[in-house]
Amino acid sequence: MKITLKNITKSFSGTTVIQPLNLVIDSGSFTTLLGPSGCGKTTLLRMLAGLETPDDGEIYFDERCVFSATEKINIPPEHRGLGFVFQDFALWPHMTVFENVAFGLRASGHTENLEQKVAQALAAVKLEDFAQRYPHQLSGGQQQRVAFARAIVIEPACILFDEPLSALDALLRESMRTELKELVSKLGFTAVFVTHDQLEAMSMSDKIAIFNNGVLQQYAAPEHIYQHPATSFTAYFIGKANWLDAHIMFRPEVLATSPIPNATSYNLQVVGSQYLGRYYELALQNEQYRWTIASPVPLPTGQNLTVYVPHDKLISF
Ligand code: ATP
Repeated sequence: MKITLKNITKSFSGTTVIQPLNLVIDSGSFTTLLGPSGCGKTTLLRMLAGLETPDDGEIYFDERCVFSATEKINIPPEHRGLGFVFQDFALWPHMTVFENVAFGLRASGHTENLEQKVAQALAAVKLEDFAQRYPHQLSGGQQQRVAFARAIVIEPACILFDEPLSALDALLRESMRTELKELVSKLGFTAVFVTHDQLEAMSMSDKIAIFNNGVLQQYAAPEHIYQHPATSFTAYFIGKANWLDAHIMFRPEVLATSPIPNATSYNLQVVGSQYLGRYYELALQNEQYRWTIASPVPLPTGQNLTVYVPHDKLISF
């Protein structure tokens, strides 16, 4: 399902939270809404869901208008045909896994082939053998998979995810990222995923929509955003950036430690060294800016290092 937003705006008590927003999310794609806390991503997700009403604009699911301020159209959440996966899983503690997954089908009266549909959804998340357990008898990752099974069992055209992995520990979070992304691709859903975690966004998304203060900064593939950030905020928020001044930056990996053509050299003091497993991340002080560079070996703080910045890798705003 393709999602089209036209001039969507939203304010709370006179404060604008979403500035006029135009966005087209392709059918079958995995889009992440990314940005710092309070930038408006959850509000946007809730407007797609019908849980929050925009002040202005229009929202289309394919050709179907689900919201129009001028036409006074506002389709309620239960008729938008979306699946939801929330941060806190929101499972019913007194229901078995089977009943949790069946809940949406029963509530909407779609009970034909219920057992088969629930079994298929549980099989998709590899929880066939857990149907009779209760949520408290499951690990965090298994609970998250039940939440996902519950979203897909109603066969939605799109699934909205609100920070679904943030309650999981770091290792589980990483494996669930891959699992979720693979499942969504396999099942062919359009996915809209909210997170403030840039690694999560980079690793899962076909496209990332980066917001700051309710303004869409850039909507593009992770690689494109990293290599061609549209704004200084995007450059700062995605990946590491070494700044020459407030308007010019480059990515740390373009730094060379031996002379290269068409580059400016800097002799800088090492002011920090962090061991990150595969490499050391050195911090170098260039006037008021702190740069980073990956190094196979640690260097003592206070030592100087000459680095070369290639001119054609500079990005200006
Ligand atoms: P986080 O990552 O912290 O969840 P977010 O980007 O999802 O942040 P939103 O939850 O969309 O941000 O909130 C955007 C702004 O709107 C915040 O300043 C928030 O306080 C405000 N806001 C959200 N919902 C309401 C509401 N119902 N009433 C008043 N203000 C609200």
